Amino acid sequence: MKITPPGYARPVQTGAVSAAAENVIATACPGAVVAQWDAGTNIHPYWGAWRRIATGHAVDPDVRYEGSSGGALSALLIHALTAGVIDRVIHVKADPENPTRNITTCSRTPAEVIAGAGSRYTASSPLAQIEGALSEGGSMAFVGKPCDVSALRRLGLADTRVAAHVAFTLSFFCGGMPSHDGVERILATMGTRRDEVTAFRYRGQGWPGTAAATTRDGRVIKMSYADSWGGHLSKEVQFRCKICPDAVGGVADIACADAWYGGETGYPTFEEQDGRSLIISRTETGERLLESAIGARALSIEPLAPGEIDLMQPSQARRKRMVAARVAALMVTAQPKPVMRGTLVEEAAKRADLGEAAHNFAGTVRRIILNRR
Ligand SMILES: Cc1cc2nc3c(=O)[nH]c(=O)nc-3n(C[C@H](O)[C@H](O)[C@H](O)COP(=O)(O)OP(=O)(O)OC[C@H]3O[C@@H](n4cnc5c(N)ncnc54)[C@H](O)[C@@H]3O)c2cc1C
Repeated sequence: MKITPPGYARPVQTGAVSAAAENVIATACPGAVVAQWDAGTNIHPYWGAWRRIATGHAVDPDVRYEGSSGGALSALLIHALTAGVIDRVIHVKADPENPTRNITTCSRTPAEVIAGAGSRYTASSPLAQIEGALSEGGSMAFVGKPCDVSALRRLGLADTRVAAHVAFTLSFFCGGMPSHDGVERILATMGTRRDEVTAFRYRGQGWPGTAAATTRDGRVIKMSYADSWGGHLSKEVQFRCKICPDAVGGVADIACADAWYGGETGYPTFEEQDGRSLIISRTETGERLLESAIGARALSIEPLAPGEIDLMQPSQARRKRMVAARVAALMVTAQPKPVMRGTLVEEAAKRADLGEAAHNFAGTVRRIILNRR
């Protein structure tokens, strides 16, 4: 994977590709095909398949504080490591050499898991070294964006090592991947530069927590989540994410998100408070892990009705309703699109306001014609 302007990760062909490898790429690449949701369980057109839906948080206050939302993902990982379910976690963390960027890492201790907690709103490629991880064997957990987990599930169709060595997958709701230019804009607004920054956090340490840059001269400059995500990062999200049929980690064993408290407008207020995660177990494996983490007092949860998620995640609900209109714009302009069978795009579109869908269709056509994707 290489970073290309304005700062998105893209696959680059560096040598000959055998027919077998080409077949694996075509099977797994989430730009080509998105893994189907499991239709055998409870299923919702926006929120995907589920066994259990809850809100909750890590019982350990340090994990809850360091986590992006309620630290649920890190709590599940730490529980699985200490219970011996897995021997390591493949996930991402800040690049120590270049702290606004991400690297993929292999964590074997609770402290290492916590060092990777928090959302990192820029390009990540947690599958880039999956070949080495699968060759190593053992029993790992994988944490990735919904598209990463989709790719790993689809890779499992062609590679039996995935089922043998990936004990479970975790994901999160994803509002889309901002370019590196997004964080450069944040740094500029903070009055600093990348080469002056020795540590950078996008979020976490509270809920929602702040973006925070530590500079060489020891200052810590902060920016609210509403300003960093709303004012900068969300404007740098790549086009592929805007047509994503599965931004909710629909094929992960467990997916987590922000269990925002809706404001009077129906949109979250982002007021600082104790972290709270939305937790959805989707598979039998996920449900077993969740149950075991609750039993071990690693996680504390409260049940939640599926309809309540609409109030916590209005942007995700709206976006799913609009995917069909945006994809239709790709089709009439003869652009390629990923195969998205089994992700309930049409069902979500039936709940869309027709005027809004027409507006999204026209806007996407205009963007394609003006090449502003
Ligand atoms: C790009 C992006 C967009 C998001 N959009 C939304 C959204 O629209 N709505 C919503 O509710 N939540 C969104 N989230 C998820 C949310 O911010 C929390 O990550 C989620 O609620 C889990 O919180 P937690 O406290 O349980 O996780 P934590 O305990 O903080 O663990 C987070 C885990 O995610 C991994 N991670 C962090 N950044 C990345 C990355 N870039 N790529 C791969 N793995 C990563 C970490 O390695 C860590 O293991 C987004 C996250 C990202 C990275």
